[in-house]
Amino acid sequence: MFERIKIKQLNEHIHLLDDNGEATGYLVTGKEKAAVIDTMNGIEDVHKAVRTITDLPLVLINTHGHCDHIFGNIYFDQAYMNPLDLPLAAEQMKHKEFIEICRKTGLSMPPFKPVADKDVFDLGGLTLEVIALPGHTHGGICLLLKQNRVLFTGDSINHHLWMQLDECLPISGFYENMKKIAFVKDKADFILHGHAQSFDSITLYDELLLGVKDLLESGGKDDEVFDYEYKWFKGKCKHHPFGTGESVICYKTVR
Ligand SMILES: [Zn+2]
Repeated sequence: MFERIKIKQLNEHIHLLDDNGEATGYLVTGKEKAAVIDTMNGIEDVHKAVRTITDLPLVLINTHGHCDHIFGNIYFDQAYMNPLDLPLAAEQMKHKEFIEICRKTGLSMPPFKPVADKDVFDLGGLTLEVIALPGHTHGGICLLLKQNRVLFTGDSINHHLWMQLDECLPISGFYENMKKIAFVKDKADFILHGHAQSFDSITLYDELLLGVKDLLESGGKDDEVFDYEYKWFKGKCKHHPFGTGESVICYKTVR
């Protein structure tokens, strides 16, 4: 039915929506409402995909303002986003790919409603609590599904963290903000991030925190063994490994 969007049920309440292996959204289904967390690239109708799973009223929450998370918002009537990411979203909406999608579908970006730290979305028997985590973007948020002990982190906590963009906070600022949300370790056992295929352990939080600390302490020295060059679509930066696997923090400068 869908060429790009693959739906995978993770547990009784959570479905993962994989957009061609490029970005991941989620559907969290309560008794009275269902929450869509991020909408991926917008090339395929994510609202239609969600409607194959549930008929409940929907609430759409964006973890941050990047194109590969918000462009699918066009298929919905309204969307929540931290106002700090509104200027970023406005910039992303100038992409020619987005203008083309809007032209083809005849749709446009719905109005954004504000969301703030500690806001709670009640889905009926399930709640999603907003936990602000400025770093990857200024308006980045996580969402805690308390009853399932799951933390949705968007691009703010993952295995390949992009901190090299103009819209990212300095590494030191991100480190301070990470420390402020250490309480998530007591409230969640799992992480679901914006490019995941399944659950990660909450230990990813500690691994990343340690990696950011290590990066700050090393001062991002030109250490060819560790902080080797990383090429991305807009140029070159460096990346700093963390954790036990292939995880990296991409960055331009440490200070
Ligand atoms: Zn992002």
